Amino acid sequence: MIFKSDIMNINFKDAVSYLSFKELDKYNFIKHGYMTRLGGVSEKEYKSLNFGFNNGDSKNNVEKNYDIFCNCMNIKKNNLVLTSQVHEDNICVVSKKNINLEGSNFTRFESTDGLITDNTEICLMTFHADCAVVYMIDINKKIIGLAHAGWRGTVKNIAGKLVQKFLENYNSQAQDIIVAIGPSIGPCCFEVDMEVLEKFRKLGIPKTYIHKSENHNKISIDLLEVNKNLVIKSGIKEENIFKSDICTMCNHDLLFSHRATHGKRGTTAAFLTLNNI
Ligand SMILES: [Zn+2]
Repeated sequence: MIFKSDIMNINFKDAVSYLSFKELDKYNFIKHGYMTRLGGVSEKEYKSLNFGFNNGDSKNNVEKNYDIFCNCMNIKKNNLVLTSQVHEDNICVVSKKNINLEGSNFTRFESTDGLITDNTEICLMTFHADCAVVYMIDINKKIIGLAHAGWRGTVKNIAGKLVQKFLENYNSQAQDIIVAIGPSIGPCCFEVDMEVLEKFRKLGIPKTYIHKSENHNKISIDLLEVNKNLVIKSGIKEENIFKSDICTMCNHDLLFSHRATHGKRGTTAAFLTLNNI
């Protein structure tokens, strides 16, 4: 396995490994990551660290994968708060009263693609296989947000709406918010048809995200650039936004990719917590 990135580190923790943003690793009050496929017990197309319960893998194996994740990362399972994603823009504010810290299992928010919290015991988790992840941290007030932004969530501006949650629910100042976006399927691989392109055009942001092939027959989109533009539009300073340079489809041996496998695949997890053990 060859891993090369100017933006992200690869970290090995016992059996598992995960990618992290070099710029976020500087903040020692958070822990964050994007899990690789390595170190789990799932087999075949789910090999091996599959976090998805709904893609045909054995439930038993997926549960074991959560246990492996929690043991390796030193995170308690009952501190995990999961999305149940529907490619929409619903964001839930998570507080201690929402979760059962005495129980033994994780908490899941139904029909939710984004989560935000200021609780230091909670570990937020979203799920991905080409769709982008958006990490947000108010470094002054110590508040964290995490969102799943596939192309549908992106055109619904879930990233901008997550910024709004910081401002409205926690009185954050936009200049205190750091944003890291990705990994996701990259502009090298994310070809779209005109119908999808039209949805992006309606966002009213600079067209820097559109890539054309030499003969202009194919158009691809830089999903991370779109999300970057949307958070800039919401008031975040450009120098506070970091974009991953890792394409999930180009790296499908290491990361789960929906397009590379025509949908026969596992699902990975991104996580963000204020509990930096
Ligand atoms: Zn690619």
